[in-house]
Amino acid sequence: MSQNTYDDNNIFAKMLNGDIPYHKVYEDDKTLAFMDIMPQAKGHVLVIPKQKAVDLAGLEPEYAAAVLMTAKKVMAAQRQVFAREGVIQMQLNGSEAGQTVFHYHIHLIPSSIHELGRHAAVQADNVELADIAQQLAKKIIE
Ligand code: AMP
Repeated sequence: MSQNTYDDNNIFAKMLNGDIPYHKVYEDDKTLAFMDIMPQAKGHVLVIPKQKAVDLAGLEPEYAAAVLMTAKKVMAAQRQVFAREGVIQMQLNGSEAGQTVFHYHIHLIPSSIHELGRHAAVQADNVELADIAQQLAKKIIE
């Protein structure tokens, strides 16, 4: 399938449908935030819109606003939980750029561009991911 066409069976679509488990950090009517399963640093979170957009080109304005507002909440929580200012906001468009899941998403990675780990390379421990998700979620609702 072309990456220009939205695939209803992509992994994030399956999460939104409740078909596969994930470590939720935050959810509202237009967005979902969850732990990246192969983090590039501890606390790596993904924010996705509840809209079928492959990448930035297909993202509707109301969902663009919503994902950024959720990203702000998540980043504020990451800064508190990890007691650090540095958070990388990253977003890949197209396989040529390295995009591997074709449902638009923002990466929020508590790290420095000079220290960033490899992309989608090493699976994290599920217990640790669940614990971090819980800590971040708690800071968002406080
Ligand atoms: P990208 O390459 O920008 O499309 O990023 C996709 C991200 O999704 C990578 O950082 C992967 O580690 C992450 N990822 C892939 N499968 C899962 C999954 N089941 N749960 C959480 N994150 C995932």
